[in-house]
Amino acid sequence: MKKNSARIAYFTMEIGLINDMPSYSGGLGILAGDYVKSAADMGIEMICVTMMHDLGYFYQRFAEDGTQIELPYEWRKDLFLKPLKKHVFIELEGRTVKVTAWQYDVKGINGQVVPVIFLDTDLEGNSEYDRSLSDFLYGGDHKYRLCQEVVLGIGGIRMLEKLGHSEIEKYHLNEGHCSLLIAELLNNANGNKTERKEEVRNKCIFTTHTPIAAGHDIFPAEMVYAIVTEEYEDLFDYVKENKTFNTTHFALEHSFYSNGVSKKHGEIARAMFPKYDIRSITNGVHSQTWTCEPMQKLFDLRIPGWRDDPFILRSAIAIPRQEIWDAHLIAKKKLFDTIKQQTNEEFDTDIFTLGFARRATGYKRLDLLFYDVERLKSIAEKKGKIQLVFAGKAHPKDIQGKELIKKVFSLKNQLGPNIKLVYLSNYDMNLALQMVSGCDVWLNTPMRPLEASGTSGMKAAHNGVPSLSVLDGWWLEGCVENVTGWAIGPKHITGDYKEGTVEQINKNDANDLYNKLENVVLPTYYKDYVAWTNIMRNTIAINASFFNTHRMLSEYVVNAYFKENEK
Ligand SMILES: *Cc1c(COP(=O)(O)O)cnc(C)c1O
Repeated sequence: MKKNSARIAYFTMEIGLINDMPSYSGGLGILAGDYVKSAADMGIEMICVTMMHDLGYFYQRFAEDGTQIELPYEWRKDLFLKPLKKHVFIELEGRTVKVTAWQYDVKGINGQVVPVIFLDTDLEGNSEYDRSLSDFLYGGDHKYRLCQEVVLGIGGIRMLEKLGHSEIEKYHLNEGHCSLLIAELLNNANGNKTERKEEVRNKCIFTTHTPIAAGHDIFPAEMVYAIVTEEYEDLFDYVKENKTFNTTHFALEHSFYSNGVSKKHGEIARAMFPKYDIRSITNGVHSQTWTCEPMQKLFDLRIPGWRDDPFILRSAIAIPRQEIWDAHLIAKKKLFDTIKQQTNEEFDTDIFTLGFARRATGYKRLDLLFYDVERLKSIAEKKGKIQLVFAGKAHPKDIQGKELIKKVFSLKNQLGPNIKLVYLSNYDMNLALQMVSGCDVWLNTPMRPLEASGTSGMKAAHNGVPSLSVLDGWWLEGCVENVTGWAIGPKHITGDYKEGTVEQINKNDANDLYNKLENVVLPTYYKDYVAWTNIMRNTIAINASFFNTHRMLSEYVVNAYFKENEK
């Protein structure tokens, strides 16, 4: 008999479930969506709690010169979500704020459902400001952020109770934005301070995603006191002791299991927070979601059962190479149709096509490929033509990210007759799937060690598309040179090892990238069909069979969900 109450509550500030619900900004949200889909497929008794973002993450357009134009992306929540007609109250700056909820049912492959609860403050009776808290994802100032986090953390726990989920065994915090749920759990716990902490610690699991200090939410003590006006003895003691409210630190302190999102990132996180035993569980993607239609058809024919059990994608090793190439070609044509529609550029399916798409932000170095434009041009002249497809949004406040996009735009007409470049607008789930399946190689050039995991290369692998990437995040685990793709630059060594100045690192990485393109990637693509299609097949058999959310969830189940504190 299935219980009505979930056992695992998964909290996340953003979630990407379907393309038309822009309730995500990038990798973190897509990962949450993929994870919940696998939980539904695998029949895990989970409920997910997230925040409504009525105005979505923005819709992206470009001016002629590549200046990003940000348009509101209003969406009709009532078309996708079911109103729950339940509400709870929280306090913000002494005001009582009413919070309601909407539900989206994620249906698994065998019919199990994981409900996703969207918390919403846009209700009559709430002040304009409070109503606006469910408008923007990562918008507004520090205070706005903290208010949202109160709604998500404290409001979320109260809503779960209201909905009758009284048997939750574990709370999984996807990033620090939901850390205030811990304050509420502490208030509800029994015994003295130490006992309360132990009780809560035994229930909490924390996943950190950010290898940069600036990426962690830190609020000044006064702001916490001004906004959180209900009595939270344990939270206030913590804030007093630490002088600030560092959401990541607070979550680490109160979770019996904490982890980074790749082996490498686990190391980095341990170095950042040496007091804590931070483990690692490498991210994955939801296989069915991130396999394009022609490839799905091929898998259905050759590897029936893969949707339910993506581990058997390893038998892709025996799919006739021609069939993989043919499926890829259909995806490539589809992407090129989109390119034609959006930019009026004609791309040619016989030409080697390199894809790059992700959040446009400094450390992702979307301009590294253009470090030496003359060198790139000469490679294309000697070794074969190149087509480049770029996409990605810059956060509205990320000036550097926006400049990088403009820089790529400005290069369009400087690449000579052998290189074509387009920058597609409004990178979203649909465009992501078209790109990771329609390009021939997927490029990723982050600055080591700032890519915690990265997931788009895993999506590419599901579509037989190899990666050419800097050894960081998941690629340190996924790269088998010349077998699943190619590495750029050295392995990052931790400790006191210094690679050099940023300028030296950029130069070395760019050089390595050019060498690989010139001596390995382009010659293989243009001259060795058998070797190329072998690599395509390997990406599915070796990487898609492993870097999926079914495997990732299994690791959380074994290591964290159904386990007690070992101490
Ligand atoms: C997968 C995905 C991302 C994350 O890609 P990374 O390689 O992890 O940066 C971001 N945005 C969209 C729309 C995606 O589908």
